[in-house]
Amino acid sequence: DRVLIGNKVSEGHVNFTIAYNMLTGIRVAVSRCSGIMKPLTPRDFRMTKKLAFDFHGNELTPSSQYAFKFKDYCPEVFRELRALFGLDPADYLMSLTSKYILSELNSPGKSGSFFYFSRDYKYIIKTIHHAEHQHLRRTLKEYYTHIKENPDTLVSQFYGLHRVKMPISFKSKIKHRKIYFLVMNNLFPPHLEIHATFDLKGSTWGRYTKVYNPPQNPDEEAHRPVLKDLNWLEEQRSILFGPVKKKKFLQQLERDVDLLARLNIMDYSLLLGIHDMEKGNDLIDERNRLTMFNPSQPQLKEVRRKSVAEEQMRNKSKTAVERFFQQDEGGIRASDQFNNDLNTIYYVGIIDCLTNYSCIKKLETFWRGLNHDLNEISAVPPRDYGSRFYDFMAASVNRTPVQRYKDNPKVKE
Ligand code: ATP
Ligand code: CA
Ligand code: CA
Repeated sequence: DRVLIGNKVSEGHVNFTIAYNMLTGIRVAVSRCSGIMKPLTPRDFRMTKKLAFDFHGNELTPSSQYAFKFKDYCPEVFRELRALFGLDPADYLMSLTSKYILSELNSPGKSGSFFYFSRDYKYIIKTIHHAEHQHLRRTLKEYYTHIKENPDTLVSQFYGLHRVKMPISFKSKIKHRKIYFLVMNNLFPPHLEIHATFDLKGSTWGRYTKVYNPPQNPDEEAHRPVLKDLNWLEEQRSILFGPVKKKKFLQQLERDVDLLARLNIMDYSLLLGIHDMEKGNDLIDERNRLTMFNPSQPQLKEVRRKSVAEEQMRNKSKTAVERFFQQDEGGIRASDQFNNDLNTIYYVGIIDCLTNYSCIKKLETFWRGLNHDLNEISAVPPRDYGSRFYDFMAASVNRTPVQRYKDNPKVKE
């Protein structure tokens, strides 16, 4: 399973050309989209823009190391979304197009998507399937409206949808391949270590990650796996929120789940990262060493820490409305029954929310439904998926030991 520490993608890496082209395309497309913002029209939700890059360059595109085509979907809509999410256009460009580009997540998942982090770990680029791209385009209006009406939404923040078309050699033939990708928020902070990560769906079918416990050496610690529903239940975990945060969390979750069900989406997860304020930050130091700076210059670590802090201050003064689930170091502190803060920070959001039920899942429901309990399997219709998801999360907030046992008799006390 994936862990959130990447391998640097630099020249010579198999995916370097793809990553280079993605970033070159984003840089040119985003900087071109900088006129006065006008109110969006239905046309903006259908608009696409194409750019062609080659070694020589022309009046529209600067010269590029490789020849490729770039397509930008609904640029004005995403520009407005970025503004709604409080991103500064110049910062966005800087993060995505700095020279030492990206790092790639260790191993791609079942879906075959690739993930890249921007150098500063603020953004994630995820390659997606054609069907996912299509679904996002079809539902972009509803997504946009939801974001506008729900500034504290937990649903993934989408900042851009693009395609690169480039020659890829395959069995000594050159084929032109289309690669669709999304830019979105990294839920996890660049400056704090996540001590445990859970990817929760509310189903139990195959939802277990085998954990090597305890870690034998510091290196193993750095490869902490992403845990799932059964681990969550087995470890008797719970989200600790006092009444105020609990209410807000469940209300927002309900609205978000309702949107996803309306859009016929399922298979999404609640991604939850847990930072323990009483523990160290070793992994971040390791990550800096690996991907950010030259290890022989430890003083740079300090520089980086400072610049992160400064940036946060700037961001704070920029965004008038503080996002509820990002109020503490980019996440949200746990709290007790009197709403007093506890020494845990949660980073939480709904991810992988572009799977359209009608596309893929019908068959799966059919054959699994034949011999399994519907609560166990992961593919059920979107409404059922949503309510099962919601119920699981609601039961996970401030769970008492008695409830734990009752909810899940399979877990031995
Ligand atoms: P599959 O369809 O097999 O579940 P996928 O390729 O669609 O996989 P996701 O489910 O989107 O991938 O993400 C896989 C993992 O990547 C997550 O469990 C999480 O660890 C990490 N991840 C995904 N999106 C984010 C994000 N926005 N912020 C931080 N981590 C993320
Ligand atoms: Ca997933
Ligand atoms: Ca997926």
